[in-house]
Order: sequence, then structure tokens, then C-alpha cells
Amino acid sequence: MSVLIFLETTDNQIKKSSLEALVYGRTIASRSGGSVTAVVAGNPSNLSEAASHGASSVMQISDSRFSQNDTQAFAEALSEAANQKSASLIVMAKSVFSDSIVPKLSSIWKAGAATNVVSLPESDANFSVKRSIFTGKAFEAMKLTSERKIVSIKKNAVAVSLAPAAGEVVAFQPSVSSKAFSIRTVSTEKATGEILLSDAEIVVSGGRGLKGPENWGLVTDLAKVLGAATGCSKPVSDLHWRPHHEHVGQTGIKVSPNLYIAIGISGAIQHVAGISSSKVIVAINKDPEAPIFKAATYGIVGDAFDVVPKLTQALRNSL
Ligand SMILES: Cc1cc2nc3c(=O)[nH]c(=O)nc-3n(C[C@H](O)[C@H](O)[C@H](O)COP(=O)(O)OP(=O)(O)OC[C@H]3O[C@@H](n4cnc5c(N)ncnc54)[C@H](O)[C@@H]3O)c2cc1C
Repeated sequence: MSVLIFLETTDNQIKKSSLEALVYGRTIASRSGGSVTAVVAGNPSNLSEAASHGASSVMQISDSRFSQNDTQAFAEALSEAANQKSASLIVMAKSVFSDSIVPKLSSIWKAGAATNVVSLPESDANFSVKRSIFTGKAFEAMKLTSERKIVSIKKNAVAVSLAPAAGEVVAFQPSVSSKAFSIRTVSTEKATGEILLSDAEIVVSGGRGLKGPENWGLVTDLAKVLGAATGCSKPVSDLHWRPHHEHVGQTGIKVSPNLYIAIGISGAIQHVAGISSSKVIVAINKDPEAPIFKAATYGIVGDAFDVVPKLTQALRNSL
């Protein structure tokens, strides 16, 4: 099965989640000896990572109109690229952007689609995958029976690994009509954290139990030692202790890191909805009855002001 991978970029870099999608697509193609082609718009500084993660060729779109992230234009371009490469599967990372591309592409390219996928299909003939639904509270088994298929991959569902391939970069000018470019980005407000919360492998998050913004050094110090992104509960961002883009939960960012550390967070259902697909959850709370302990893999019952500095120091000493 020949596979086309769409590589999304941010800050002129191919996103880590797109490299995960590439590894996913590469794994499927390798079963049948199919080709792996990546499509990227612009000239990301880490373009060579497409080759090192298994793309045999990279179709590079230089048309500046594609810098606007217009989903109709991208859907048409991906359909054209897939046809050129005789691909029968298009893979991309699940994101706000791809959530808008997939339904349009599905209609244009006449393909069945599964989003937020966390597992490989059993085989090319039996394309049954598991997808995460209800904000990570359940899984749905879905079988794609159409000849052409589109899959978007949940973040951190695939471990990134290297498999060097030729990665020949070929210019690609899609014959997309100018009508497809109907959206203009007027302005963009960027999250300022050093590590993007939604892509992070480790997240350290604080709640109202930290009493005030003046105590946030507890969270940021631990995050720094672990190379983690920082998050918070909704009341914390509502109180302006932390910026809104750090708010985790049902109404905020949904994260799926390998490790989520919740400090002074009660574990209300709306918060847990945003963290439940984390691989390991560690809760630090002084109330042994706090609901967060039901969601946690490991729990520390104790005062955060006592526990967290000791934990941070111990980790610092061990590095
Ligand atoms: C429609 C709706 C949507 C919502 N969406 C979200 C959402 O997306 N995300 C979200 O987070 N919330 C959301 N909420 C709010 C949610 O219901 C909770 O109110 C909120 O998550 C509680 O935040 P918290 O745990 O930080 O604070 P609290 O509930 O005040 O909990 C503080 C915790 O800190 C502990 N604590 C106190 N002092 C210490 C200490 N010294 N050391 C250790 N632990 C300590 C306490 O035991 C307690 O468990 C939503 C609510 C509604 C109604």
C-alpha cells in the first residue's frame, strides 16, 4: 500500500506529531513494500527529518498562498498529490488544522476517514483501527472498507523512531484553483511556553491548591528539570494566575503526554477529561480523598509546598 503523509509545520518546523504520523504511515507501507511520500508546504528548517524518519520522497509546495493554512486548498492539494503517487492511504497528525482538512479531503478524494487513531490496522485487507473518543474516555473500533483511506493520528500514540530513506525533495505545484484560497489569517496569538503543551511528552500542571501565582516557581522549577511543558486547571487561568493557553481540560487543551504531574488539582471530571489519555498520571494532593487519585497511576498524599521542592531537588541530583 503506497502512503502519502501530510507534514504540518509550526514556527517553520515540521511538528513532532507529524513525524509520528510519518512513522505510522511508514510502518503500514513497509508491510507491503509500498512507497512513502511526504507532502510539506514551505521550507521547514528540519526538512531533512522527513528523510530520516522514512520518507522516500518529499513533495515540497513553495507557493506562498499555502502559508495561509487554507483547509480547502490543502485538501485539494493532498488529493492531487495522492493521485500522482497512486497512494491509497493519506496519514496526518490529528490537530485543529487537520480536523478541518479531513472531511473536505474525504469528500474530494472519495475516501473513508478515521480521526484520532491510536492503533495500526490489523492488515491492509482488514483496515480496523482503534480511535480515541469522548475526550479520551473511550475507544471506538472502526473498520475502513473504502478503497482509499484517510487516517489522522492522535498525538503521542506512536513512538518516533528513525528509519533513514532517500527523502528526495521534489517541487510540487498543485493545480488548485484560486477560488480555494478564500481565507486570510489576520493575526495570530502564539503560546509563549518553551515547550508546546499539546505536543509535550511531560506536563507539570498546577491547580488552586498552589494558592496564588507567586508560588508558581514550584511548577516551573519541576517542569524545567524534567524538560516538561506547564499546564494548569481552569480556575487558575480564570483567576489570571496563568495564561489561558495553559488551561487543561474539557474546555481547554487536551493533552496525552507520557507523564502528567498534577499538583494541587482536585481532579474534577472536566479536568480529567483533558488528561485521561496520558500514559502515566502522578497526583500530588494533601487530601487523600481528592478525586484526582482515582485517575492517577501514582499518588503522593502531602503538602505540595513540602513535597514538590524535595522532588525537584531529588531529580536535579539524579541528572
Ligand atoms: C462547564 C465546565 C467546564 C469546565 N472545564 C474545566 C476544564 O477544562 N479544566 C479544569 O481544570 N476545570 C474545568 N472546570 C472546573 C472544574 O469543575 C473544577 O472546578 C476545577 O477543575 C477545579 O480546579 P482545581 O482542582 O485547581 O481547584 P480546587 O477544586 O479548588 O482544588 C484544589 C485542590 O488542591 C488541593 N490542595 C490544597 N492545598 C494543597 C497543598 N498545599 N498541597 C497539595 N494539595 C493541595 C486540595 O485538596 C484540592 O484537591 C469546568 C467546570 C465547568 C462547570
